[in-house]
Amino acid sequence: MASMEPGISSSRVGDHLRSELLRLSHDIHQLIQTLETSECSVLHELEHIHQSFHDIQTATASYYLRSYLAAFTNHFEVLSVAIQHLSERNHGALIAIQREDKLEEHLHAGIPLHAELSHPLLESIFYTGNPLHDGGVLIHQDTIVSAANVLPLSENMTIRGKVGTRHRAALGLSEQTDALVLTVSEETGRATFAFGGNLYPIRTSSGLV
Ligand code: ATP
Ligand code: MG
Repeated sequence: MASMEPGISSSRVGDHLRSELLRLSHDIHQLIQTLETSECSVLHELEHIHQSFHDIQTATASYYLRSYLAAFTNHFEVLSVAIQHLSERNHGALIAIQREDKLEEHLHAGIPLHAELSHPLLESIFYTGNPLHDGGVLIHQDTIVSAANVLPLSENMTIRGKVGTRHRAALGLSEQTDALVLTVSEETGRATFAFGGNLYPIRTSSGLV
């Protein structure tokens, strides 16, 4: 699927999303017809539909991610590169980005850094074995405020048991505040963001954008 450029207007994103969903619904309709006329396995077609839906979801989530962060940091590209590199190396990461709500009162404070936000610094914090790699980094505007913070775990029973503690911590902070929390899974390398108590997959093949 063609990528959605984050700079384009939301109506163009809506048009793009509508045409991708129509294409998907056409594929699903064709699959239903195949079921009526053939007894061949449809596993391959189902996989194609699953992959198409995932592509649409990640492209849309990447667009919204940029919109949610635009007013709160000028360094979206830095975050994008860091997440891409961490994902490629399967380095687990948890990065909370402050928006309107103050976050300190919701965290168990880690190590203060007050360093300029850069992707090499973010990547080295989460380098396996670094004493700061456990826990979450807090970013406010263009500063890495602190690392190794303990975030509140989500108690949401529907996700409990489905995700591990890193993702529950991302969800927990996003339930209690308007923060946006980026995660990279150490197990799978997949990147997600938590916002408003939900987890969304993000595309990393060419950064977040
Ligand atoms: P992954 O997909 O990377 O395995 P996960 O969601 O399955 O993540 P765990 O495997 O339990 O979660 O990850 C454990 C790591 O998550 C810890 O080593 C720590 O770095 C981080 N973590 C766990 N709980 C918290 C918390 N409350 N606050 C901040 N970081 C946490
Ligand atoms: Mg795990």
